[in-house]
Amino acid sequence: MRIFAIGRNYVEHIQELNNERPDEPVIFTKPDTALLTGNAPFVHPSFSKDIHHEIELVLKISKQGSQIPEGEAITFIESIGLGVDFTARDLQQKAKEKGLPWDIAKGFDHSAPLSSKFIPAGEFSSLSSIDFSLEVNGQLRQQGNTSLMLFPFAYIISYLSRFFTLKPGDLIFTGTPKGVSAVKPGDKLTGYIGTEKMLDFEVR
Ligand code: MG
Repeated sequence: MRIFAIGRNYVEHIQELNNERPDEPVIFTKPDTALLTGNAPFVHPSFSKDIHHEIELVLKISKQGSQIPEGEAITFIESIGLGVDFTARDLQQKAKEKGLPWDIAKGFDHSAPLSSKFIPAGEFSSLSSIDFSLEVNGQLRQQGNTSLMLFPFAYIISYLSRFFTLKPGDLIFTGTPKGVSAVKPGDKLTGYIGTEKMLDFEVR
């Protein structure tokens, strides 16, 4: 099982970080040790003073494939969950300035809280209009809809499969909408797909 992630997939999030709009999806990966499941608390690491929440829809891949045509890509989605792509923004900023990889800023232990529940793809009336959101301490912080993605699910899957053979169980974090900000011990994060509560955990 691999964890792939897409950066810069929502225009207003690109703008809030003053990033360039990409011509192709920005791809990075996280190791499996990044996963944090079962609504376990996220322990704020000491190596960063600026860990940002990024709420994201997460695709679970159903079957093996490479060089997947865009027109067939949707059939590779088994189900959709919700995750947080925690990012050590201070470490990422240093890496970006030097043109260095993002691995420690994005892939550190428990940087990927993930819902236990995944909703079968067939249960969505449309994959191109899925609402999702994040509340911090009961306040709405991030709200997205898949219609706002620069690169939709089918394109992401097709593009990834040019370089990586996708396998059953692989996860794809599909990018975050605007509203990212730092978390601190004591914060309670609650994530929703539509009105369904998918994530509910605290920062310690
Ligand atoms: Mg992200």
